[in-house]
Amino acid sequence: MITKRIKSVGVLLTVACLSSLPVMAFAQERTGGGRGQQAAPDFIQVLLRPKFITMLVIAGLVLVLLLTRKMNNKLKVPILLLSTFLYGISANLGLKLFAGFSMHPSPICAATKSILYGFRIPMIVTLAVILFLTLVGPKLFCGWVCPVGAIQELIAMLADKAKIKRKKLNFRLTQSIRVLIFIAFIFLSLTATLHTVSNGQVVALSLYDYINAFHGYEMSLQPTFVDNVVHFLPFVLTLIFAFVTYRPFCYIICPIGLITNVVEQIALFRVVKKKDACTDCQDCVSKSPCPTTAEILKESVLKPDCFSCTVCTRSCSLDLLRFGLKNK
Ligand code: SF4
Ligand code: SF4
Repeated sequence: MITKRIKSVGVLLTVACLSSLPVMAFAQERTGGGRGQQAAPDFIQVLLRPKFITMLVIAGLVLVLLLTRKMNNKLKVPILLLSTFLYGISANLGLKLFAGFSMHPSPICAATKSILYGFRIPMIVTLAVILFLTLVGPKLFCGWVCPVGAIQELIAMLADKAKIKRKKLNFRLTQSIRVLIFIAFIFLSLTATLHTVSNGQVVALSLYDYINAFHGYEMSLQPTFVDNVVHFLPFVLTLIFAFVTYRPFCYIICPIGLITNVVEQIALFRVVKKKDACTDCQDCVSKSPCPTTAEILKESVLKPDCFSCTVCTRSCSLDLLRFGLKNK
């Protein structure tokens, strides 16, 4: 049954997407509407593509719902399904309607391929949107519009519904693995230890190409069995492990998870604790899927990733945790 709240989020998203149409039309005008020879698009033209405009609109709407304490599971599910569809699946359908939603460059490629082969406009825009949404916070890109993040969040909710007990991983351990993978990428890829030879030239390869769950959303078969394993296995493993631990790919592998964890420490909006009234019952900590809530209670300076899942803010019976401005 469609609930009143799902209807209202549907209406809000429709209004949001419709209101972005004039901006997209303006963008199309700027790019010549697909007619004739086109110059390489500039920053603004890429930013005005439907993919980025809708990402910003959805994230803005989510922020309002978080700050006004209106976000709940009945709103979360359609928003996360929409992000999974728009930014992961839709480009595979080959429909003109979704031509502006290509996943490329994926967030991981935008960060790592830029380091390897130089910064190009679509990569710069992807990184700018990710960093902007992380700076506004609370991790609005990873939490709500990343298709790999969204599907892991949906699986976490499904696992809760099925009463599957998930294991909370130690953040020091997951952070160490995430950092080590990044260091290995710098060493193996930047030194071209990992490489291929094309037309007699040595071309460095990205270590992340072998562990990139985003590739799972490119639903075309690869030439060989090994290629298919490299292409789909990280995504399949991510989906399986998401049933037993919270967002395994984000916490353990993703370089964007690592970068945004650094940036989120200075984000404008985050989960904040009302000072002094906390009875230290630890209810929110035990119900949270993440290692972050315990550090929020302790008011640690550096905190693990918060994906604004809303579990902790909804589990405090005294209503002491909420999304708000830093230091308020
Ligand atoms: S950490 Fe990576 S995979 Fe996870 S939500 Fe962020 S960008 Fe997506
Ligand atoms: S439980 Fe709280 S701290 Fe943990 S990810 Fe969700 S909102 Fe963030």
